[in-house]
Amino acid sequence: MLHPLDGRPCEHIASSSVREDAMAHALRVALEREEIALVYQPIVRLSDRSIVGFEALSRWTMGDSNHINPELFISIAERYGMIARLTLYVLDRIAREVGELLRDRPDLFVTINISSQELLDDRVQIAVENVCRTRKIPCSCVAFEITERTSADLTLMKRGIDRIRKSGHPVFLDDFATGYSGIAQLVTLDIDGVKLDGSMVEVAHKGSKAIAIADAVARMMRDINLEMIVEGIETEEQLAQFASLPGVELGQGWLFHRPLSLDDLILKCK
Ligand code: C2E
Ligand code: MG
Ligand code: MG
Ligand code: MG
Repeated sequence: MLHPLDGRPCEHIASSSVREDAMAHALRVALEREEIALVYQPIVRLSDRSIVGFEALSRWTMGDSNHINPELFISIAERYGMIARLTLYVLDRIAREVGELLRDRPDLFVTINISSQELLDDRVQIAVENVCRTRKIPCSCVAFEITERTSADLTLMKRGIDRIRKSGHPVFLDDFATGYSGIAQLVTLDIDGVKLDGSMVEVAHKGSKAIAIADAVARMMRDINLEMIVEGIETEEQLAQFASLPGVELGQGWLFHRPLSLDDLILKCK
């Protein structure tokens, strides 16, 4: 028998949903046991590759070596009502792990990924308001990257983002130029910048349509006073191409640094 919506066999759907239920349960336990780890990927100034900040990324290893893809467990956390719980955990953890580094180096910043659906969650907003106060970290050192995996109500999103920015935290739209993150958001939302998705970088070769679009986006960001951080830079050629775009100063990618352990991050920021 085929599933009426996508033509896949029903047994497949049933078994994959059972698998997801089991994974959601395991994720809940992992959060309780504080088994989700954080790695930190530096954000660099493209002109001299100096580190200006770093993005906190969650890592979940089941058992000894079963690394679960973050896109997968984040989407499970979102669908099983655990995403706010994960964010509270990440906020607490970054404050403990990089609080001291940021107090010593207030010129750096950490970014935390949050989903648009969490913006209206009071527990998340209160944790955001407290994260810097309790650890005496300057609020400007803790920025948020907002990802939209489903279409969100822009008016509600704006309300949540305004509240975060009112506490002094910079806000970026993540995955810009893919899915739900685009021009309409820029019209409505007051933000500090965008992160241009790595998928744009991947297809942007010299003379390509993608590089012409990236150039136009960069000019637009400059005109409306938004920072544009370019993600997923893997090669010298990509660096040269994107560093020459108007107003583009910051980037991230394997060419500079892979996501680092806390110890490695601290060594690199000394
Ligand atoms: P993102 O926020 O857009 O993060 C960028 C992803 O690209 C990361 O994947 C990073 O490891 C990867 N990346 C960085 N540089 C390069 C590069 O040069 N080439 C390539 N191919 N990839 C690169 P990761 O860590 O697997 O995370 C995937 C997504 O999962 C993130 O995308 C983010 O949306 C989500 N995520 C990760 N941790 C968290 C979290 O703590 N909370 C939430 N809400 N989402 C998270
Ligand atoms: Mg991100
Ligand atoms: Mg991104
Ligand atoms: Mg992404």
